[in-house]
Amino acid sequence: MQGACPPPEIGALPTHGRLAAVCGVRDERLRCGRRWAAVRWAAVRLLPCLWRGKYFSSGNEPAENNPVTPMLRHLMYKIKSTGPITVAEYMKEVLTNPAKGYYVNRDMLGEKGDFITSPEISQIFGELLGIWFISEWIATGKNAAFQLVELGPGRGTLLGDILRVFSQLASVLKNCDISIHLVEVSQKLSEIQALTLTEEKVLLERNAGSPVYMKGVTKSGIPISWYRDLQDVPKEYSFYLAHEFFDVLPVHKFQKTPHGWREVLIDIDPQVSDKLRFVLAPCATPAEAFIQCDETRDHVEVCPDAGVIIQELSQRISLTGGAALIADYGHDGTKTDTFRGFCGHRLHDVLIAPGTADLTADVDFSYLRRMSQGKVASLGPVKQQTFLRNMGIDVRLKVLLDKSDEPSLRQQLLQGYDMLMNPTKMGERFNFFALIPHQRLHGRNHQTNACQSKPSPSPVAGFGELGWR
Ligand code: SAH
Repeated sequence: MQGACPPPEIGALPTHGRLAAVCGVRDERLRCGRRWAAVRWAAVRLLPCLWRGKYFSSGNEPAENNPVTPMLRHLMYKIKSTGPITVAEYMKEVLTNPAKGYYVNRDMLGEKGDFITSPEISQIFGELLGIWFISEWIATGKNAAFQLVELGPGRGTLLGDILRVFSQLASVLKNCDISIHLVEVSQKLSEIQALTLTEEKVLLERNAGSPVYMKGVTKSGIPISWYRDLQDVPKEYSFYLAHEFFDVLPVHKFQKTPHGWREVLIDIDPQVSDKLRFVLAPCATPAEAFIQCDETRDHVEVCPDAGVIIQELSQRISLTGGAALIADYGHDGTKTDTFRGFCGHRLHDVLIAPGTADLTADVDFSYLRRMSQGKVASLGPVKQQTFLRNMGIDVRLKVLLDKSDEPSLRQQLLQGYDMLMNPTKMGERFNFFALIPHQRLHGRNHQTNACQSKPSPSPVAGFGELGWR
């Protein structure tokens, strides 16, 4: 039932533009040298990318572009029976509803999908992240065992590149007992991950009703398990990885009004059949408690699910050690309306044909830092360009270029590098952020050195120079 006094409609909320890049997919094609054997190469062709920075209006699409999807029908039914829903509820239903959710039954990544991510563009990205984990493992005393836990692993491409580095550096990791744990809600993507990572050489164990819904062994013989929820991953010494994961978690949106903060809700448009629109809640809603008292912006997005995950990661890292590496596009508590949709590498009106397009909002790193509640130290956000340069991307590119004589491959390597590093492409838009135990920085004045005006370099690779080679 909708409220007796209909909430005011928000005219055309501006929403920013996921990196909508029209890019090729990776395939196995480059083998170079013994040290980096079986290197996979990415991006068959890299075409110019469409930018996300553009403002984008919601709710102005002509009716003929608004097909009644099963998800739209489901949402209209829900709104008719219980009233307008929050943007967070909308995002959650549209993206991860177990039956009809956008992420649940499709492969949306790559050229034929809706968006492209860094690991799908260049193998170097995953390789450098693999080095990061090994570097942290060494710096923290070479624990006898570690779990590598990835949240939202997509096609498994990033993990595949990381595991290749682990294999190449087997002599460094020898005697370390490694296991892989994937947190994934998508049935379809978990099948693709299994194929990418295990080649199903050993039969996978499946049990849909169990918190560990799939189990197997990777191509290089490492045990691998799939979960729907981080809570179910064993609480052991772990390295956590989340790349373009936090941006798909549901956000609540709030608008400052003369009457105070009002939450943005989604309602049925009374003027046009089968259409949704944004409205403002007529009075305060419980989620308002998430807004900071000293907030100066007039529009904010808050992601409580991200807060819960950061609290869990912080708790785990403070108890067992390890680290979390989070990479995403986002800001440090400065942006306002960043909610947007992507379909076929183009911006897409978030309220049109729900279930057929990706929905995303920039990650607020200041909120993630706050949610760690001082249990761990946080580093960043630093720009992707800075992080990858600190990790030695230039050296790695040179090695690959020197080893490849095919002009088209050299071209692809250079284009992939440009896409990851160029400040006008992904170089400045994407950020790296880490959670590490306080002891990791112990004895080092990481913030500022009393004798220097400049901050002293971070001892953690990526946030400072990579010390270990
Ligand atoms: N990390 C990958 C894929 C990013 S897309 C890459 O960079 O290429 C987001 C991923 O998160 C997908 O694998 C999606 O299925 C997964 N996902 C989305 N919501 C999730 C949730 N609530 N819990 C676990 N996984 C989720």
